[in-house]
Amino acid sequence: MSKRVYNFSAGPAAIPLPVLERAQAEMLSLDGIGMSVMEISHRSSHFESILAGAEQGLRDVLNVPDNFKILFLQGGASLQFSMVPMNFLAAGETADYVITGFWGRKALTEARRCGNVNVIYSSADGGYRTTPEQAELNFSKDAKYVHYVANETIEGVEFQYDINGSGIPVVCDMSSNIMSKPINWENFSLVYNGAQKNIGPSGLAVVFIREDMLERIPKGLHSLLDYRNIAENGSMANTPNTWAIYMVGLVCDWLKEQGGVAAMQTRNREKAAVLYGALDTSDGYFTGHADRSVRSMMNVSFHLPSPDLDERFCSEAEKNGLDGLRGHRSLGGVRASIYNAFPREGVTALVDFMQDFAHRNG
Ligand SMILES: *Cc1c(COP(=O)(O)O)cnc(C)c1O
Repeated sequence: MSKRVYNFSAGPAAIPLPVLERAQAEMLSLDGIGMSVMEISHRSSHFESILAGAEQGLRDVLNVPDNFKILFLQGGASLQFSMVPMNFLAAGETADYVITGFWGRKALTEARRCGNVNVIYSSADGGYRTTPEQAELNFSKDAKYVHYVANETIEGVEFQYDINGSGIPVVCDMSSNIMSKPINWENFSLVYNGAQKNIGPSGLAVVFIREDMLERIPKGLHSLLDYRNIAENGSMANTPNTWAIYMVGLVCDWLKEQGGVAAMQTRNREKAAVLYGALDTSDGYFTGHADRSVRSMMNVSFHLPSPDLDERFCSEAEKNGLDGLRGHRSLGGVRASIYNAFPREGVTALVDFMQDFAHRNG
């Protein structure tokens, strides 16, 4: 096998090596089945137990209460930008959106196709470096829900608290920080994520929806865009992404062996501290994007003294086995994504490279 590099990609992102090895070992023949997971019927008892196992894995790891359904859907997180308003925001109704970066704006664009949307906070003027204080949020009267993005993956801005909707259902995009820490389910009515950041392959979205929300869904939606229909059919309203669901199950098994999300949180904090420490002790050579108080534990976005140096940094890093560091095209600069699967040694290797680069190009 050729050498594996340190993969700082924001998504699709690093998957734990033991998970890839297990998938490899089971690729040609699942234990006792003699076929690949991608070759068996989704209606077979074998796949039923894989699906049930992935769901149970998520329930165990994230301590999901019984009154939440877990749905496996296709179309990634982006389809959820549309499905949330299609299910919960009719023409003439109002929803509140909190905008702290790129993905929040994408969600807003889709919601506006369905009903009235109030942007009750936006950090656009400051270049998306902050999150609001809870006290700054004034919800609209009769808002059907409030939507926010827990971790803005591109800007590297992460909420340090859960928004309290004061009775208004809270809908949260947790694509890039789900499973990085425990979730307090009492604060949420619907949580969704695209799997490719922290829990598996791309194309799969996982939706956690409180059961009473299902009762609010209007009749007559297209079947595959209707959460209630997906829930009633146990995520099998059509052929699901069987491979991705299988991988999510393996990632959950791995996470349990690692000590669960609480242990992950400790490790993630340690990794992020090493990297932010390198920014803060660089005498301004490396400048972080997010305000210090809202720095993401998952995505560390920063830049060098010039776009030219950003580019040289990323291409030299790549030659040194540090891959996927180029910032998103909308922001430029450098971004190191250090999800659960990203090893601490990779962070240390990056910090060593940063110090060496600054020394040579200072
Ligand atoms: C990656 C990402 C998305 C988009 O995910 P897709 O699966 O590509 O649709 C949405 N929201 C956040 C916070 C993300 O990080």
